[in-house]
Order: sequence, then C-alpha cells, then structure tokens
Amino acid sequence: MYDAMVVGAGLSGLVMAERLCSQLGWRCLLIDRREHLGGNCHDAPDPNGVLTHLYGPHYFRTNTPELVNYLSRFTAWHRTRYAVRSFTGGRYWSFPINLKTFEQLLGRESSQDEFSRWLDEHKLPITEPQNSEEVMLASVGVEFYEKFFKGYTQKQWNKEPRSLHPSVCGRIPVRTTRDDGYVDESFQALPQDGYTAMFERMVDTCGANLEVRLGLDFCQAKDTFSYRHLIYTGPIDEYFQVCYGRLEYRSLRFEVESHSARSLAQQGKSGFWQPYLQVNYPNSEQYTRIVEIKHATSQNTPHTNLVREYPQDYTQDNEPYYPVPTDRNLALYKKYAALAAEEKGTTFLGRLATYAYLNMDQAVALALETFSAKFSAQPQQRKPRLA
Ligand SMILES: Cc1cc2nc3c(=O)[nH]c(=O)nc-3n(C[C@H](O)[C@H](O)[C@H](O)COP(=O)(O)OP(=O)(O)OC[C@H]3O[C@@H](n4cnc5c(N)ncnc54)[C@H](O)[C@@H]3O)c2cc1C
Repeated sequence: MYDAMVVGAGLSGLVMAERLCSQLGWRCLLIDRREHLGGNCHDAPDPNGVLTHLYGPHYFRTNTPELVNYLSRFTAWHRTRYAVRSFTGGRYWSFPINLKTFEQLLGRESSQDEFSRWLDEHKLPITEPQNSEEVMLASVGVEFYEKFFKGYTQKQWNKEPRSLHPSVCGRIPVRTTRDDGYVDESFQALPQDGYTAMFERMVDTCGANLEVRLGLDFCQAKDTFSYRHLIYTGPIDEYFQVCYGRLEYRSLRFEVESHSARSLAQQGKSGFWQPYLQVNYPNSEQYTRIVEIKHATSQNTPHTNLVREYPQDYTQDNEPYYPVPTDRNLALYKKYAALAAEEKGTTFLGRLATYAYLNMDQAVALALETFSAKFSAQPQQRKPRLA
C-alpha cells in the first residue's frame, strides 16, 4: 500500500512526489508511460556527448525567486540569454519584434519615438481582441503580422489564427526598445548539468520513500498497486475514458541532427551550425524552427546538434504536446474539470490534467501551491527528511 501513486514523471509529478516524500515522509510510487524521467523537459547527450533537448528547447525563466530557491536544492544554474531570429524573405530578422526589427524593415536607423508612432499608425483599432489574429493586428499591424505570425501560427496549429484564443500569439512580447531578448523574465538560466540530472537529484532526495517505475501506463498500474491518494498529471480526457469526447492536442515531430567537429569543418563551420540559438521559419519551410541548444548551454565541445520541429496532429502514436485553445476545447475541458472536482482522493495536476499551456515555472508553482493547500497539513507517515 503506497500513500500516493503519482502518474507522470514530468516536472509536475516530480515536484509533488518530492514534496510528499521529503516533507511528509509518504511512501510514493511515481510512474510514467515513457521510459525516462522529466516528461517533455527530458534531455540527454547525443552520440557526440552534446546535450540535447529531445522535446524541443526548454528555456527556464521566472520572476519568482522562491521557485529558483526550491529548484536550487537540486541543481546549480548556468545563467544564459535566449537569442532568437526569424528567417523569412531570405534574411534573418531580429525577433521578437523590437526597434532593431523596425530598422531592418526601414533599412536605416530609427528611434523609439518613430517606431511608436509607426505602430500607432499601423495597428488596427481593435479594442478587445477576441482571437490570435486580432491580438496581433491590434499590437503590430498587418505587415508584421503577415511576416512573422500568420504563417507560423497556421503551421504550428493547423488552424487559422482567428480561430485560436488571443493567448496563443499574445504571449510573444513586442518592444519599441532595442532589447531583443526572447523573454522578459529576470531569471533566465538552465540547470548546470541539464534537466535530467536535476530530476535524478530530486528522486535521490526522496531516498527509500520513492519508488519509480518507468515504461508503465496508469491503465496497467491502477489495478496492480494499492494507494491512498492519486496524483494524476496525464491527459484529463483519458482519465475519464474520453466520455465527453476527445480534447484536441497539437503534436510535434523532432528531428535531431548531430554534427561532429569534422562534419562542421567540412561545411566550413566551427563549433556551431547556425549563428543563433533558435531560428524561426514562419513561412516557407515545413518545420517551424531550428534550435541549436549549445548556444544556450555553452557546453565546452567542438561538436553540436540541431533539432528541427515539424508540427503534426496528435494521434495515439505520438505525444500530446500543446492543448489547443479554441472555444470548443475550452468548453469541453470545463466539463472534464467538473468531473475531476468530484473525484475523491485524486488530485489533477500539470499541463495535461489542467489542459493549460504552463511554462516550467508555472508548473512548479502550481505543484508547490497544490502541495501546500492540499497536503501540507496531512499527518506525516514517517520521519520526514530534512529538505
Ligand atoms: C515543445 C515544447 C517546448 C517547451 N518549451 C518550454 C520553454 O522553453 N520554457 C518553459 O518554461 N516551458 C516550456 N515548455 C513547457 C514544459 O514542457 C512544461 O511546463 C512541463 O513539461 C510541464 O510538466 P508536466 O509534468 O505538467 O507535463 P509533462 O512534461 O507533459 O509530463 C506529464 C507526464 O505524464 C506522463 N503520462 C501521461 N499519461 C500517462 C499515463 N496514462 N500513464 C503514465 N504516464 C503518463 C507523460 O508521459 C509525461 O511524461 C515546452 C513544452 C513543449 C511541448
């Protein structure tokens, strides 16, 4: 009999398992149907020893020092800055849109005032944007929307931006300064030895209180093991046997390409394959971006690797990466959430069980808040470890 079974060894499940074991001394079983820890944050070395983010780049960033303090128990950090460009019309553009992008458009130097005036003249007068197309037209106007957002969003979601919630495109900052950082948060860093090493330390901290079983699906585990409480971080519709119909997810195919120092030299390159960490391809190519994570990890190696991302529909043969925020899906999720609220002894947590796009810091925050609100007053089973 376990005190809790935690379904999903992604960030949400790991944080909750660590808290339950370390703080309450609970004995927990952590399972995942994939063969590794870390869910989509999992990373691993390629054949040349270059660390690879296998499920797309994971740029950790946050404005919340408490989250950094919590994770710092399990990792040191490599402070970094995420530099992105958008490749369209045969050239690299500064991205997210900022004064440098505007100067590229004009072909000359400009100023914050001139760019602000230009935006005021070109933005469409939409006071309450209802979808992703309107949100971008209202903030950058037609020309930038068509250059950087329209094709990218169609490719990424296989939907017209006007059918997607404003939050999809609205998350990308637009600045009138020359600040071309990809994100705004004050703490931008990667775990020094990678995410997987951080997750392994989280598991180690739990000692004998935590048992981990990988390659095991909840469908099999639920009738095999006994537990008092269930933490579920898988897709919420699956938990309820899709009784109201399937929630839609978007999936991706990741194509990893490793380059040894020799293969780089044969291409007249040294150390890196492309000049930036991430290059977006909003229009022509089938992939949406190419990421060369070594620019961010600063790993000391002459080799490198790239990951190309090809968006695709979610089927039973791939992974559900992104909840698709349309009116239909959000209404359907509410029906599942109502069932979840009635489910005794079960906590629904994380990106898939709350059907929300959560960045890593938000996933950690949600897990810690849920632990405090729901479990921290629970009786301790055994002597808790000091953590
Ligand atoms: C392509 C991509 C890029 C991203 N980039 C960033 C970024 O740059 N910065 C950032 O902050 N965030 C990023 N994120 C978000 C980040 O991945 C999430 O915040 C994080 O993974 C949330 O963790 P989770 O545990 O909630 O979900 P997940 O990582 O999805 O973990 C859930 C786990 O549950 C398992 N599972 C599901 N169903 C079952 C079942 N029935 N039985 C057993 N196991 C099951 C899954 O296999 C999975 O491992 C990105 C996400 C994606 C998809």
